[in-house]
Amino acid sequence: MMETLMTRCDLVFCAGLALALLSSTADASYPYATGLLAVRDVGPATAHTPACSAVPDAPASICRTTAHGWAYADSEEGAERAATALEATAAAFEKYFGRVAPNGALVLSATFDRAAADRFSNTHGLGYVLTWLPPEDTRTKVEQVMRRAMPNADEAKIERALEQLDRQHEDTLRHELGHSLYGAAFWPHVEAVTAGHYGSPAPDWLDESAALLMEGAGLRQQRESSFLDALRQQSGRVAPIDDFIARDHPITAQARDRLMAQSGQQTQSGIQIMAAAGEEAARVAAFYSQSLAFADFLIYTSKDLRILGKISTAVTEGANFNDWLANTGPRHGLPGNLPALQSAWDSWCQGKLSVQAAETARGKGDGGN
Ligand SMILES: [Zn+2]
Repeated sequence: MMETLMTRCDLVFCAGLALALLSSTADASYPYATGLLAVRDVGPATAHTPACSAVPDAPASICRTTAHGWAYADSEEGAERAATALEATAAAFEKYFGRVAPNGALVLSATFDRAAADRFSNTHGLGYVLTWLPPEDTRTKVEQVMRRAMPNADEAKIERALEQLDRQHEDTLRHELGHSLYGAAFWPHVEAVTAGHYGSPAPDWLDESAALLMEGAGLRQQRESSFLDALRQQSGRVAPIDDFIARDHPITAQARDRLMAQSGQQTQSGIQIMAAAGEEAARVAAFYSQSLAFADFLIYTSKDLRILGKISTAVTEGANFNDWLANTGPRHGLPGNLPALQSAWDSWCQGKLSVQAAETARGKGDGGN
C-alpha cells in the first residue's frame, strides 16, 4: 500500500510568537462539490496556454491565463496575485533548474478538494494542480489556530503575525508552486511515494531548496540572516553537511498529527493549518534556512545557477548526492567528497559571517553620523 504524494507541510511565517504551517494532504474523503460557475478570464491568452475562460469545469469564478498555466480565485485581486506568483515562479524555476516550467493550475480555494484537483489535472493534461488558501481565508483560519494554540498571546503580536502572513502571501504561493513545478518537471510520472518521504522522491533538503529558491529576494534575505544568526550563536542548529543531506524534513507525519490535534484545522480543500512554537518552531525554521544556504553555497561554489537542476537530473537517474559529487563534483568546481565539501562549506560560512559583521559595523557607523 502506497501513501499518496502531497503530505507536505510548510513554514509560512515565523513571527517570534509561533510558526504556522500549512499542508496539502492526501485526504480525498470530501465530496466533490459541483456547481456551475460563470468564469471571467481577466488575462491575455498566450501561445502556450489556451484561454481559461473556455474551460468548462472551472474551479473558481475568476481566472487568469498566463504563459505557464491558469490562475483561479474567487476575487479579481486573488486571481491577479496568483497569476503574478505563477509567472514569477516559472521564471525562477527556469533560471535555477534549466527546464521549462510545466503548465499547471494554481487554484485559490478553501473548497476545491484533492479529488477534484486530480480530475481537473487529468482532464486538461496539466503537469500539476496546486490548491492553496485565498489570503482572506488564510487570515481568518490562521487567527483561529493561533488563538487556540496560544490562548494568552497578546493582540498586537497576533496582529503583527497576521500582517506578516498577508505580506508573504505571494512568497508562500511561489514556495508551494516551487514544490509543484519541481515534482512535475523532474518526476512527472510519480504519483505516489512510500510512507515517510516528504515531497518528491528527491532528498528532503533538495526538495525544500527547490521551493525556497522560488521565493522573493526579501524573504530569502530574512532566511539568510536567521541562518547567519544561528551560525554566529553556535546554536547547534546548523548541521554538519553529511548529517544535513541525510535528514528527513523536520515535520514528520507524527508531528503533523500531534499539532493538528492540539490546535489545527483543515479546509474542505485539504489544507491543514497548525501552529508550532518554541524549540520545535526553531528547529523547523533552521532546516529551511540551512536548505536555502546550502543551495546558495552550491551555486556560488560551482558558479552555476543551474547546479541544483544538474544534481536533480542525476537523482532522477538513480544517483545519490555522494555519487554525484564523486563522479562530477570537480567538473563543476566542487570538491569530490563530503569531507572536502564540509571544509569548503565552513569557509563559505565564515566568509558570509565576515561580510555580515562588516555590514553591521558600517551600519552602526552610518547611524552615528
Ligand atoms: Zn516547502
